Amino acid sequence: MLGMRPDCESCSKDLLAEQAGALVSSFECRFYDSCDKDKLHGICPNCGGALSPRPTRSQSLLAKYPDSTERKYIC
Ligand SMILES: [Zn+2]
Ligand SMILES: [Zn+2]
Repeated sequence: MLGMRPDCESCSKDLLAEQAGALVSSFECRFYDSCDKDKLHGICPNCGGALSPRPTRSQSLLAKYPDSTERKYIC
């Protein structure tokens, strides 16, 4: 199961698990696609891996498997 972190690691804006328009790397770093377009260009700045569209998690599954609250903002 992917760790669904609560914020974009590039700009720290909230990024909810059920929200579309997010990207994730294989190390579960996650970003807004707008940040990808502006500066990341498909490569994760943390681990150097490729970014892929992140699948969303439905509300019913979120109730069972809550979103992570661990923030990873590093900039
Ligand atoms: Zn961002
Ligand atoms: Zn990464």
